[in-house]
Amino acid sequence: MDQTLVQPELVIGGEHRKSSSDGSTFAVRNPATGELLANIPQATKDDVGAAIDAAERSFDIWSETPAPERAEILYKVGEMIRKDKLELAEALTIEEGKAFSESLAEIVEGYDTVMFIAAEGRRMWSYVSPSEQKEKFCMVIRRPVGMIGIITPWNFPFSIPLWKIAPAIIAGNTVVFKPASNTPLIAKTIVDLFERAGLPKGVLNFVTGPGSVVGEAILNDKRIKMISFTGETLTGHRIAQVNSGLLRKQVLELGGKNPVIVAQDADLAQAIPATLYAAFSNCGQKCTAGSRIIVEKPIHAKFMELFVKGAEALRVGNGMRDGVQVGPLITEAARMKVESYVGIGQHEGAKILFGGGRYNDKERSMGYFYKPTVFDEATNDMKISQDEIFGPVVAIMEAQSIENAIEIANETRYGLSSAIYTRDIRSAFKSLAKIQSGIGYVNQGTTGAEVHLPFGGIKESGFGREAGEIAIENYTEKKAVFIDYSYKSRAWFFG
Ligand code: NAD
Repeated sequence: MDQTLVQPELVIGGEHRKSSSDGSTFAVRNPATGELLANIPQATKDDVGAAIDAAERSFDIWSETPAPERAEILYKVGEMIRKDKLELAEALTIEEGKAFSESLAEIVEGYDTVMFIAAEGRRMWSYVSPSEQKEKFCMVIRRPVGMIGIITPWNFPFSIPLWKIAPAIIAGNTVVFKPASNTPLIAKTIVDLFERAGLPKGVLNFVTGPGSVVGEAILNDKRIKMISFTGETLTGHRIAQVNSGLLRKQVLELGGKNPVIVAQDADLAQAIPATLYAAFSNCGQKCTAGSRIIVEKPIHAKFMELFVKGAEALRVGNGMRDGVQVGPLITEAARMKVESYVGIGQHEGAKILFGGGRYNDKERSMGYFYKPTVFDEATNDMKISQDEIFGPVVAIMEAQSIENAIEIANETRYGLSSAIYTRDIRSAFKSLAKIQSGIGYVNQGTTGAEVHLPFGGIKESGFGREAGEIAIENYTEKKAVFIDYSYKSRAWFFG
């Protein structure tokens, strides 16, 4: 696949086209270099209406297509991803900025998702149940939900849309997909892959533009029967508000401020690289980033010494360069947000042990780079310990005991991922039981999903789960079916 052939277009009912407005576009840039990658059409409300019309027109034919036949398309998409994984990973790094190795891992996750979900074409089981009455057969069948609005963020622009599109499509739904405006090209590639695999026109429609126009137009159209959204908690609140007014089904995957506990018996040789990765991979721009580290007092000083040494050694640069581990932030606005939080953290009294600034060499000053930043002496009431900064900033706190560490871990409005480093099985199980999060790790950082397990958070990190067996639950409705073969008239009252 030649990524330069990806055309920045809307896809509505199989037709690739510009915006119906006066041709308005918005720019997408490489965050490592500032280079203009493409001008993307800014869809109008009418374009979104046309995309929903197209999804509506294709619904009957697609939902009546046998699921194993629908699966054939997913298998083809999977094969294409496998074949083109290096080109896809390069395109992802150029548009999103993450290190090439991380992009490759994301592309592979997309492949795993598509193949895992394709197999559902021959599963998607439900069940048969005994009846209360003779000569009666009861079962539960799955039906597609209808037209699904899929709205996604930029930080995993390949795997997150596939977490949603693949199960929506295998279950017989049709889709209107709106990607984040920072990463529409890799999103368009997904749509092109489905088209090349033979997906009928109108099953997957693609509209680009700002959330306030394009996202809102999807959200406010009553014909859309479900919204599958991943993004910020603030946007999630808005989406939930509209959905509740319409009593509409939803999956919301939102922000995080994920704690990593480092117990005094932790193996630091294992914990240091893993906590560095959890905090700084993808430049801290992960919903599951381990952005709060809670270290038990007896090893605090040692941990800090090794962690800072590790942060100093991180190779920050253009993600396409060999050996680079941390890329840039996504935009200048994101970098300014990080800078502002670094100022807040200092004002709050936390101590910067490393980072806290931009780079001034020629190459890195072209992009939106920022130094991995380590705050020590943070306390849990500080904004740097509570707000999702979504950048390379970690707040490190001290705990008096495991119980105290768990308390600190839970004092947050978020509840997505959590981790503990320990060699004590009691501490491990205690933290798994007590920490309020949808995902829990022992001796692994807070990141790293596997597609056959459910992914998602509690509290203000979201509502519902993605992937795993829940993927099919999300995108189907269960229908209870009663078949009376007695040919008798039955009384339904107490006689
Ligand atoms: P965002 O909420 O700004 O945008 C997400 C998507 O929503 C974009 O496509 C955007 O255009 C759209 N949108 C914005 N306003 C809208 C509105 N009013 N109506 C409809 N759509 C609207 O988030 P982002 O900056 O793209 O992504 C970063 C956030 O996503 C972080 O908070 C991160 O934690 C979260 N995230 C969560 C998960 C998870 O699985 N829990 C995974 C990745 C990212």
